Amino acid sequence: MLVTTPNPGRHFNDDDVERYSMGSLPEELTAPFEEHLLICETCRNRVRESDDFVHSMKAAVTEMGKPELTVKLATVGPVVAPGGSPLFLLPDLSDLVVAPTDSVELTDELGNSTWRGALPGIHVTSLPIGRYRVRIHAGAGEVLREYSLHIQ
Ligand SMILES: [Zn+2]
Repeated sequence: MLVTTPNPGRHFNDDDVERYSMGSLPEELTAPFEEHLLICETCRNRVRESDDFVHSMKAAVTEMGKPELTVKLATVGPVVAPGGSPLFLLPDLSDLVVAPTDSVELTDELGNSTWRGALPGIHVTSLPIGRYRVRIHAGAGEVLREYSLHIQ
């Protein structure tokens, strides 16, 4: 015996799914598409994936579009910088004899290392709001200098 399933209608193509995510699907297609979504899990999942993609693209474009701020880190008091912007963290190295093997490290509040690399500074695309520490390490690991950074 033949089991009939309700006809879910035609799947929409990738282009339409993407346009729907970006809010640029024409109105005459939006209504039938939303009707189709009610009965089609496959397309609902496709929309979800497309939404994620569109969001991450938008976030990437927004971040790329923002100019990088140079944040000079001083040893006195915390330096405040905005979240959601690309930053160049530039520690004040005056009075410090820096060796090529020295490194700079960015840690979060809990002391977890977020970034570690070569001097003179740290490029970050954006940092979540919070308190951070930047440390200059001698080649052997000894902390030569420490800076406090607040992202808000
Ligand atoms: Zn479908």
